Amino acid sequence: MVYDTIVLGLGAMGSATAYHLATRGVRVLGLEQFGPAHDRGSSHGESRIIRQAYFEDPAYVPLVLRAYELWRDLERETGADLLAITGGLMLGTEGSPVIAGSLLSAQTHNLPHEMLDAGEIRRRFPPFAVPDDTIGLYENEAGALRPEACIRAHLDRAAALGATLHFNEPALRWEPTAAGGVRVTTATATYEAEHLVITAGAWAPVMLADLGLPLVVERQLSLWFEPVGGTAPFTPGKFPIYVWDRPDGVAMYGFPALNGASGGVKFGMHHGGIATTADTIDREIHAAEVEATRAVLRESIPSLNGPLLRAVACMYTNTPDEDFVIAHHPTAPQVTLAAGFSGHGFKFAAVVGEILADLTCDGTTRHPIGLFTPSRFA
Ligand SMILES: Cc1cc2nc3c(=O)[nH]c(=O)nc-3n(C[C@H](O)[C@H](O)[C@H](O)COP(=O)(O)OP(=O)(O)OC[C@H]3O[C@@H](n4cnc5c(N)ncnc54)[C@H](O)[C@@H]3O)c2cc1C
Repeated sequence: MVYDTIVLGLGAMGSATAYHLATRGVRVLGLEQFGPAHDRGSSHGESRIIRQAYFEDPAYVPLVLRAYELWRDLERETGADLLAITGGLMLGTEGSPVIAGSLLSAQTHNLPHEMLDAGEIRRRFPPFAVPDDTIGLYENEAGALRPEACIRAHLDRAAALGATLHFNEPALRWEPTAAGGVRVTTATATYEAEHLVITAGAWAPVMLADLGLPLVVERQLSLWFEPVGGTAPFTPGKFPIYVWDRPDGVAMYGFPALNGASGGVKFGMHHGGIATTADTIDREIHAAEVEATRAVLRESIPSLNGPLLRAVACMYTNTPDEDFVIAHHPTAPQVTLAAGFSGHGFKFAAVVGEILADLTCDGTTRHPIGLFTPSRFA
């Protein structure tokens, strides 16, 4: 079989890329070291926040708006339930990065939003024990994606459109060929193609070692708690997705009870995890880290501090500025790469797939990706 493009890594970004390439009639080979929608990378754990008033930088807003369209298209194509709109609340003090940044994006891109003071936050969302100087930016269109279902939907459609997908086949190395293509060697075979897309997630430091990108893999926990006094105040419709930037530097986020009363309510801290590597990460959850989470909950969302139902370890792959890396490989233009999603990439996966397909097929993209050039680290 002759392939036009090999996609190395079929997680969030790779599954979307395989799909977009397949819709364009490209003969795709996808290689994944584990099974479909597995739990050993960065894309497991039931839910991922999607929001529009993007505090990180207004430059992300056009990309996230396109991602909403593409997620809805994928739902229509597959009949899968991928995106739930719950409303979203960004919390912090006036001028804090989350508040100032969200407001800047909302104003720059004319996004509907409401500003709430502490009293209004407590009245509308009773679980939040906000101090008097905390304010909120609320947006209706924020919500949650189901990451495993999103990846499966992209993979299923890619396969239906003719992509060849090999699971449990780790790629060991890749190299440019004399003819201007690429050769990828896996544990069991060698493949050649005209183009290669590297979407290796937390394994990017290994697969892109030649570039010396300043990527740091960070261990992060997701924890599901059973609320004290019942799940009712946390049901979707009553309780939003949220990001809370506390003045003491603690940043946390969470979701409503997306899977009914028995599913628990998911909570996590944004950053503050230990540096690790994809192959050596400690997947055990330790009592001391659960206790540290409880200390935050006791202060900020006391009714969520009930029995711990489960917890999992996941990985962020951070860049120094927390902006992504999406580009042609600097010395091998037949290779395209996407890495360093810094704990906020999932919501963009659908549009990143479109961008990587553009770069591979057309050499360029209409999407604004200037922020993501690896040359900024030079
Ligand atoms: C706890 C947690 C919470 C998060 N919350 C949010 C959120 O609310 N909203 C949001 O937008 N983002 C969130 N993120 C970030 C988001 O999930 C990631 O940015 C995104 O999933 C990264 O996708 P990826 O495709 O780069 O990595 P992955 O999905 O991990 O895919 C990489 C794939 O490459 C495969 N691979 C690697 N090397 C090889 C090889 N040599 N051969 C074959 N296959 C290989 C891996 O097995 C893996 O399947 C969160 C992340 C974590 C960990």
